Amino acid sequence: MTISYLALGSNLGDRLETLQKAVKLLDQEPEIQVIKKSKLYETLPYGDVPQENYYNAVIQINTTYDPLQLLNKTQAIEKKLGRERLIHWGPRTLDIDILLMNGEKIATDRLTIPHKEMLKRSFVLVPLKDVYSEETYQGKSFDQLIATTGNQAEVWLSKESW
Ligand code: ATP
Ligand code: CA
Ligand code: CA
Repeated sequence: MTISYLALGSNLGDRLETLQKAVKLLDQEPEIQVIKKSKLYETLPYGDVPQENYYNAVIQINTTYDPLQLLNKTQAIEKKLGRERLIHWGPRTLDIDILLMNGEKIATDRLTIPHKEMLKRSFVLVPLKDVYSEETYQGKSFDQLIATTGNQAEVWLSKESW
């Protein structure tokens, strides 16, 4: 079993429903169990493409899939929930990024783990703090890590429950 962390994001269509369905589909996979869900956050979009705010969350899962198998599953779920990849960093119904898989380090064309932008993004670090198994990551508290991104004001708790 590998403890892994997935970042979920949606900014097109019914964002809450999409994230809820994604968690359900992941949990229904025979080799994935969803253990913990972060709170739900609303965040300003990233990059220069004008678009709706995002809903973001992070989940902790247990899986017996290897990294590429897990990527294939998460990409199939993105597709199933209507993801079309139109513009890079543009609006999308669902984005699932693999943040961490135990201490695994991978750098291939299809997969980089830990996710290469993770430490730059408060919309990832803020929900990761909710579910991460330890108080610190690489010797730093999440509050320290979040402060370093300089964009924590762009992430706030959603009023919707999920
Ligand atoms: P970003 O990766 O900067 O958040 P994005 O999520 O918008 O951008 P996508 O279009 O969803 O980018 O993904 C592009 C490719 O990234 C995927 O086809 C996948 O092969 C690759 N990729 C590399 N590392 C990862 C990872 N850790 N999790 C998910 N996809 C990854
Ligand atoms: Ca992403
Ligand atoms: Ca992605």
